[in-house]
Amino acid sequence: MIKFLVSIVVISMMCNNANAKKNVKILATGGTIAGKAQELIGYASGQLNIAALIAEIPDIQNHTEISWQQVANIGSQDMGIEIWKTLYMAIEDAKNDNDVLGIVITHGTDTMIDSAFLFDLLFPSGKPLIFVGAMRNADALSPDGPQNLLDAIQVASSVEAKNRGALIVMNSKIITARSAYKQHTAAVETFKISNGSYAGDLHNGKVNFYHDFVRERGNKSIFNFSDIDGISQVAMMSVYPGTSKSYYENALSSVNKALVISGVGNGNFPSSITKNIKETIDSGVIIVRSSKVPEGYVSRNIEINDDQLGTIASLGLSPQKSRILLGLLLKKNMSNSQVQKIFDCEVPTADGSCSTFPN
Ligand code: GLU
Repeated sequence: MIKFLVSIVVISMMCNNANAKKNVKILATGGTIAGKAQELIGYASGQLNIAALIAEIPDIQNHTEISWQQVANIGSQDMGIEIWKTLYMAIEDAKNDNDVLGIVITHGTDTMIDSAFLFDLLFPSGKPLIFVGAMRNADALSPDGPQNLLDAIQVASSVEAKNRGALIVMNSKIITARSAYKQHTAAVETFKISNGSYAGDLHNGKVNFYHDFVRERGNKSIFNFSDIDGISQVAMMSVYPGTSKSYYENALSSVNKALVISGVGNGNFPSSITKNIKETIDSGVIIVRSSKVPEGYVSRNIEINDDQLGTIASLGLSPQKSRILLGLLLKKNMSNSQVQKIFDCEVPTADGSCSTFPN
C-alpha cells in the first residue's frame, strides 16, 4: 500500500515537472532585434522595448515564464563600461534568483562578441547565459529576431546549456562566446567559429548540443565587478602596409597602460617599429599581439621573438577579445609571463592553474 502511494506521489511529481513552466529572465539592451525602419536612413537600432518583442512570439508565455528588464536600448556600437556594469548587476541578480533557470541578453551584433566574451570571463559557469540579436530590423519584411529570440529562450531554459559559459544563439546555431566571430555585415548567418566547432543547434524547437563537455560546476571567475573598469584603459592599434613609422610612433607614445596590436598574419607588425614596441614595453606598458585574421592562433616566438621583446601572444583570441581579457587583468598587476598564462587558459582559476576545454 505504502509502495503504491509513493508511486502515485512520484508519478504526480513527474507530471508536475513535465508541465512546469520554465523561468527565463531577459535582459534587453537594444540592437537590430529592436530596430525599426527610419525615413532618411535604413533603420535605427533599439527602437522597440523588450515587451513588444516578446509579444511577437506566439504562445511563448504558455510554456515559459518570462520576466525582463530593459537595461538599455542602444545600437551596440555605443556599448561600454557603464552598461556592462549595469548588466553585471542584473546578471548576478538573475543568477541568485532561485526562480530563474536561465538568462537571455538581447544585444546588437556589432559588439555582441565583446560583451559575450566579457560575461563569459565574469560568469564562466552556472545558469545558461545566452546572447541573441538579429540582422534584420523588427519591422523588416522577414525579420529574423522573433525566431532567434524564441531559440535563445529555449536554449536558456535547457539544463544542458548550464556550465558552458556565455553562448550566442543566432540563426538556429549555438556558438560559444569564446569561439565566435562576426563575419558578415548583413547576412543572418553572421557568426562563425574562429577555432573549434559549433556548440549545437536547434531544429523543430529542440535544443541539440553536439558535445557533452561542460565547464566544471562552480567554476568561479577570478574577475569581479570592479575589474570591468580596466577595459577602458586598453588601447588598440591596427597595423597595415605602407603606414609611416611616425604614425606608429605617435600611436605608441599615447598609450600609457596596455595595448592590443591588431596585427597581420600570426600577429605580426612591421619590423621598423620593433624597437619602439620594446621601448614602450620597457616603460611599463603591457602589449598583447593578436591578428585581424579571424581563424587560427597567434603563437609565441614564431616570426616575432616574444621572449626578447616582452610581448604576449593572444593565441586563439581576436583583438577585440584580447582587449577585454587584458582590461580585466589590469588591476591584478601581473608579470608578463603570468598574463601570458592567463591568455593560454579557457577558464583561469584563482590558484593560477587553468581549466581548458575544447571550444
Ligand atoms: N549597429 C547595430 C548594433 O550593433 C546594428 C547591428 C545589429 O544589431 O545587428 O546594435
